[in-house]
Amino acid sequence: MTVLPIDILEKLAAGAEQADRDTAWPITAWEALRVAGALGWSIPREYDGAGLSPVEILSGLEDIAAACLTTAFALSQREAAIRHLLKGPLPLRERYLPRLARGEISMTVGLSQLTTSRQHQGPALVATLLPAGRVQLDGEIPWVTGADHSAGIVVGATLPDASQLLLVLPTDRVADQIDSPLQLASLGGSRTSLVHCRGVIIEPDEILTGPAESVLGKSGGGGLETSCLAIGLASAAIRYLRAEVTARPTLDEMTSRFESTLQSLRLRLHELAGAADPDRTLALRTDATWLVLRVTQAALMVAKGVGFVAPHPVQRWARQAQFFLVWSCPRPVAEGVLAKLASE
Ligand SMILES: Cc1cc2nc3c(=O)[nH]c(=O)nc-3n(C[C@H](O)[C@H](O)[C@H](O)COP(=O)(O)OP(=O)(O)OC[C@H]3O[C@@H](n4cnc5c(N)ncnc54)[C@H](O)[C@@H]3O)c2cc1C
Repeated sequence: MTVLPIDILEKLAAGAEQADRDTAWPITAWEALRVAGALGWSIPREYDGAGLSPVEILSGLEDIAAACLTTAFALSQREAAIRHLLKGPLPLRERYLPRLARGEISMTVGLSQLTTSRQHQGPALVATLLPAGRVQLDGEIPWVTGADHSAGIVVGATLPDASQLLLVLPTDRVADQIDSPLQLASLGGSRTSLVHCRGVIIEPDEILTGPAESVLGKSGGGGLETSCLAIGLASAAIRYLRAEVTARPTLDEMTSRFESTLQSLRLRLHELAGAADPDRTLALRTDATWLVLRVTQAALMVAKGVGFVAPHPVQRWARQAQFFLVWSCPRPVAEGVLAKLASE
């Protein structure tokens, strides 16, 4: 299923190396997505969106990831914010969703402090309940992609009794508290930053969920989008291998095996779309990570020294595959991948 026109994907692919290496926000790719209507895919029609099905959205995201992982990653963080808004109160949906669908604003998430970041320490971001339903935030949001290009951040914070809150933090309230983008090993254009919160006040109508225990549910950081992006990157590397088979038929058997694994992972991804099945979601995430690591290494080996020289795409894919070892990687996934890495 191809959701985006080929010329848009080609435009994204043409900017992929720069988007990966520079810390400039990938404006050209973002504008191409806006023109193609992709910014409205996951937003219902009543809020000016396109209301695509979960499988259509995942198919589109996979194609974007194959063309430019940096753009797909930034988009996936916006999509996560949209998913939380859709489960939130009507006034917040009406405030943000139509403008998101039209591409007038973007949003992002800062949730990992509840799931996969700093879990061995005390809460990174503390919420204090104030009179009249207001909330004060103090601490740090360690990872926020596109923070300085977003109108709001969907944030998770912890109360003194260990219950959690999800809320929308309008970015103008922390404009001077967003650190410079981190110098990343890849995906530089995602402009991922740490955001400080010092006595930031959140109004009652900016609260999405909670206070409650584990507001993000069992799978926490391991949603379907991470697997979808891994599958997209793997498919780019496999397409490269398939093209090489023409001149090097000995690569055919290995490439066919990778293709078959890719296809079965894609089927599992689409089966899980719209269904809440944390265990199968985490298992898919482990398997997708394992495939993208192996296939990008295989592509590098096949491309040999030439592939190690920028801007050859295989050097980028091999670096980007490592991102799936650290991004939104909950404990069961980390344990599963580490066990595979440690096996003989
Ligand atoms: C490029 C990038 C973009 C991201 N964007 C976002 C985003 O937009 N939104 C979002 O919510 N999240 C985002 N994340 C966060 C991501 O999902 C993970 O939460 C994050 O990568 C976890 O890494 P950490 O260093 O924070 O983990 P930590 O667990 O905090 O580990 C940091 C260090 O703590 C030490 N340590 C870890 N565990 C233990 C332990 N048990 N005992 C003792 N010491 C320990 C180790 O020295 C480790 O290096 C992003 C991550 C990356 C890399």
